[in-house]
Amino acid sequence: MARVSNQRVSQPKGGARKDNLGGHVARKRFGQNFLVATDIIHEIIDAIAPRAGDTVVEIGPGLGALTEPLLSRMDHLHVVEIDRDLIARLRQRWPGDRLTVHEGDALAFDFSALKADGRLKIVGNLPYNISSPLLFHLVESSPVVYDMHFMLQKEVVDRMVAEPGSGDFGRLSVMLQYHYHMECLFTVPPESFEPPPKVMSAIVRLIPRDKSQIESSKKFGTPMALSTGRAGDTAIGDALLAKDEALFSRIVAAAFSQRRKMLRNTLREFFSEADLAALNIQPTARAEELGVEDYVRLANAKAAALAKA
Ligand code: SAM
Repeated sequence: MARVSNQRVSQPKGGARKDNLGGHVARKRFGQNFLVATDIIHEIIDAIAPRAGDTVVEIGPGLGALTEPLLSRMDHLHVVEIDRDLIARLRQRWPGDRLTVHEGDALAFDFSALKADGRLKIVGNLPYNISSPLLFHLVESSPVVYDMHFMLQKEVVDRMVAEPGSGDFGRLSVMLQYHYHMECLFTVPPESFEPPPKVMSAIVRLIPRDKSQIESSKKFGTPMALSTGRAGDTAIGDALLAKDEALFSRIVAAAFSQRRKMLRNTLREFFSEADLAALNIQPTARAEELGVEDYVRLANAKAAALAKA
């Protein structure tokens, strides 16, 4: 489901850099590390591959490193930016019919309100200080999103695409792998930014799993693998559909709340040892040993038990 394609490290080729921030002083509290390596910027835009007719929204356009090449490929772009100085610059640089600037916090922005006739793509070199809450916030819009491409701390991307059993596998992996097919496209070194962050970064692609296909296959009685029908997509069976997503989320959070503890302790609120054993889950296992499908199975068993009670 989650794929690390090649872990390619994209090195800035020592070519053009946009080192001059035009008098803007980077604000740490807004996670401002501006992309300056033009070859990497172009690689990101190629990965996003915007098409005329797409609705694209960029989170945190900053000084426009991605905004400019995106606008060279499309007539119009939405951006969500919190920094008032940068908003003023963006409005000065591009007219409103080319760039719609949504002023405010991306964590409070309703991305599904941008639903368009064509594909809705969300992109951005994200502020690293809010990346996890932002990823969880974006899950709410996943039903209307075509795909998302983000620059994140490499360590966060490693956790997003981690396999069960690895030390990186956690709540973020389970929750995001439940909602998306994910792929780490390439890593980006600190010298590609101004100021350079202290960590490696990576570009990740997220494609929402089309849960509606599972629902309709159930309605018409045809067992159908889940697939968005796009290249590189992984077919997933309907064993991966949680009947009560809020309950699924609570069980995953409880399991990983103390990851060194055994599931018979962390999941005590939901299951007895006998319940776990009956579901083929070792009561002595730790949270990271279970896969996404196991968590869905647990949540569905609990939902069924609650419905009967
Ligand atoms: N896209 C630019 C680039 O690649 O050079 C800037 C990227 S910088 C890592 C993050 C951007 O997100 C900054 O412009 C920052 O002001 C903006 N930002 C930070 N927190 C935000 C929030 N909560 N909502 C919207 N934008 C935010």
